[in-house]
Amino acid sequence: MMEMISMVVNCEDCKNDFELKLQTEQVDDNCERVFFDCPYCTRRYITQYTNDKIREKQARIREMREEYNNARGIDTDKAVKIFEKYEKLKKEIKTDMENLIRR
Ligand SMILES: [Zn+2]
Repeated sequence: MMEMISMVVNCEDCKNDFELKLQTEQVDDNCERVFFDCPYCTRRYITQYTNDKIREKQARIREMREEYNNARGIDTDKAVKIFEKYEKLKKEIKTDMENLIRR
C-alpha cells in the first residue's frame, strides 16, 4: 500500500503555508511536467520533468536500492558493484531530466 505523505510548504512569493499537492500534466508525447500551485497567489512550482523512460529507470533505481541493502553485509563485492551501477543510473536520470528541460 502506498503511504500518503502530506507535506506543508511555504510559498516564496506570498509567504503562505499550504499543503503540497503534486499534479502531473502532459507536455507532449514524451514529456510530463510534475508541479504544484500555491492556492493563495497561484504561483506555479515545477518540481520535475519526466517521461516513460525516466520512470522506468527510477523503478530500476528502487530495485537496485533493495538489492544493495540485501547484499550489504553478506557479499561486499556484490554490494559495491550494485552501488556503482546505482550511481551511474542516478547520473543518467539526472541527465535525462536536464535534456527534457533544455529541449
Ligand atoms: Zn503564494
